[in-house]
Amino acid sequence: MANIIDGKKISQEIKDELKAEVEGIKSRGEKVPCLAVIQVGNDPASTVYVSNKKKACEYIGIGSKSFELKEETTQDELLNLIDDLNNDDEVTGILVQLPVPKHIDEDLIIRRIDPKKDVDGFHPMSVGALLIGEKGFLSCTPAGVIQLLKRSGVEIAGKDCVVIGRSNIVGKPMSVLLLRENGTVTICHSKTKDLKEVCKRADILVVAIGKPKMIDASYIKEGAVVIDVGIHRMENGKLCGDVDYESAEKQASFITPVPGGVGPMTIAMLMKNCVEATKLF
Ligand code: NAD
Repeated sequence: MANIIDGKKISQEIKDELKAEVEGIKSRGEKVPCLAVIQVGNDPASTVYVSNKKKACEYIGIGSKSFELKEETTQDELLNLIDDLNNDDEVTGILVQLPVPKHIDEDLIIRRIDPKKDVDGFHPMSVGALLIGEKGFLSCTPAGVIQLLKRSGVEIAGKDCVVIGRSNIVGKPMSVLLLRENGTVTICHSKTKDLKEVCKRADILVVAIGKPKMIDASYIKEGAVVIDVGIHRMENGKLCGDVDYESAEKQASFITPVPGGVGPMTIAMLMKNCVEATKLF
């Protein structure tokens, strides 16, 4: 049976460290981080994410400004708001909750956010900085995975790391972060041949495919560390990941559950980026 990597506990540790850091910032009279959160429309899942982000800010002591815009908001109106927030000295981080309605060009919105306030780490400048090891914001979910590994005592340097998925928000930055930690990284995707054979070489397997329970024990080397980034709601209302947990945990040495694994880390790392925003550049 695998050791469970407890993302809820680790994310709480990080939030508590950040809370102490913000108390220090306040007591020294330094600039307090402030996150501006923009939501366009009222997609119920986005509303839950936005509310959780605001709650996390409150817990840590970060300021937050909330902008709930109606679905019909034009692209220009949203761009103008981002410009205003880019120029607002009080605001240190800007987050536009994705997805935005279809009449708005998501890439244009991401590019309009000042890279110095890009706490989601999605701006091409942040992605480029990550690639060449310059200072910049790290994409939150992959950065959370690295913290889960490190804080569970999993050595990355020299290990065979296989990432399944090459999306811009998970797979690609995940691979670069593992490389930065001196892992030997292989990226798999929908066109990979012999996926099972490649996965079975992994000491650390990070799964971000977006297919419920696709990865079972037959993809996993005995004793491998398995990180499941996927989140899906099943017909019975319960959540599951991209990994078939019951099967995989018999083969793995460490494994993340869903829920309670990678999920809670994303907000914790967003908060870390918010705190770093005051001192990164
Ligand atoms: P995506 O759909 O953008 O990318 C999926 C990737 O998987 C693609 O690169 C594709 O090439 C690859 N893929 C698809 N089918 C494959 C197959 N049969 N074999 C090999 N590779 C295959 O998804 P994403 O945005 O990267 O998200 C992946 C999963 O992670 C989803 O379940 C998503 O809900 C979840 N997610 C969770 C968090 C979190 O905070 N925990 C954050 C982001 C995404």
